[in-house]
Amino acid sequence: MSIELEQLNSANGGEDPVSLSLDDIIGSGSISVRAAYLHVPFCFHKCHYCDFYSIVDTQDRQEVFVERMDQDLRMLGSRCESPLSAVFIGGGTPTLLRPELLARLLDSVVRHLPLASGCEWTVEANPETVDDVIADVLVEGGVNRVSVGCQSFQPSSLRMLERHHEPRNVSRAVKHIRKAGIHSINLDLIMGVPGSVHAEWCDDLDQALALDPEHLSCYGLQYEPNTPLTRKLEMGQIERLDDELEAAMYEHTVARLRDSGFEQYEISNWARPGRACRHNLVYWKSENWLAIGPSASGHLDGTRFKVTPRLSEWLASTSSVPVVDVEHLDDLTRTGERLMLELRLVEGIEVGEMNRLLDLFDPDGERRLAVTEGLRDGLLQKHDDRIKLTHAGRLLADSLLSRLV
Ligand code: SF4
Repeated sequence: MSIELEQLNSANGGEDPVSLSLDDIIGSGSISVRAAYLHVPFCFHKCHYCDFYSIVDTQDRQEVFVERMDQDLRMLGSRCESPLSAVFIGGGTPTLLRPELLARLLDSVVRHLPLASGCEWTVEANPETVDDVIADVLVEGGVNRVSVGCQSFQPSSLRMLERHHEPRNVSRAVKHIRKAGIHSINLDLIMGVPGSVHAEWCDDLDQALALDPEHLSCYGLQYEPNTPLTRKLEMGQIERLDDELEAAMYEHTVARLRDSGFEQYEISNWARPGRACRHNLVYWKSENWLAIGPSASGHLDGTRFKVTPRLSEWLASTSSVPVVDVEHLDDLTRTGERLMLELRLVEGIEVGEMNRLLDLFDPDGERRLAVTEGLRDGLLQKHDDRIKLTHAGRLLADSLLSRLV
């Protein structure tokens, strides 16, 4: 079931907007969560492939944004009954906040959220925005992991994506971060950029590895609806990369990163031993996480919600944590999503648990059939009492896993 705030508003006869807050959805008791996601919606430019909510920053609303985040963090933090093992501040570009405001935001997190000892605390950074001052603010605030939006080291691919950073600034950013004392760094790379060739992708991996990151995310380019890049594709101005070429790039990634000592723990994610991203694992294991900031999405015990996605409405709202979309997942949907997400993980899902779920929540047998056919076709394998994707299955994961939802 999905409730749209717009629907509630129209049901209100066009009078004052209905103010829906998280309290209306989850009640007023305490909540048990493992992680928190904070969204900072400012960027200095809109990249052409991006469908995350962000606005080009004019700096004038940064301060009110940070003040409002403090209020929402205070409210949600007071409701948390368990310490959080992961916090992720993403965006947008969190490191675009002025240093004193970034410091205030980090301070709000520390003051209001119950952080477990050793909590993994990640901040996303655009390479252009990281200097010694920002890196010091992060360390002093308690951040212990930085995810750098590198995407590509090829000027032609960066131009295609309309990413406004210089490839050399990735290594500069990494140096600032390490010098400040943060020793857990992720680099994001995008595979399959139109016009790119295999040798360029190999070079991207080589350059990323030369920076000695602890974690690498290598996502295939997604053509999200209504982005400038997708419009170019629809108008025939660019072409998707050939499937076989993209598969060859992925195969090279698996081999290159394995040979460099990385462990693959998810279809698109690799880490040095013990450095898998805890926050991402909370998503993939369908655990509970808070969402704070415009357009942030969260999940609490089978209820998914999205915070009001427009900055001005979010700032103007008198609700604590104003929410626009709420989706109460029924058991069938939860089961399908759980199977789909856990099979993305290299460790897969325990056979007994999969059978239990399919016995309870597969009324038409379609999911069991998808699993049986996946095993028969070599896309899934049974190993150590777990069902996992095979290497071939990872290449075709989207079509296989979509049958489970
Ligand atoms: S910097 Fe990141 S969030 Fe901002 S527009 Fe580019 S991809 Fe989107």
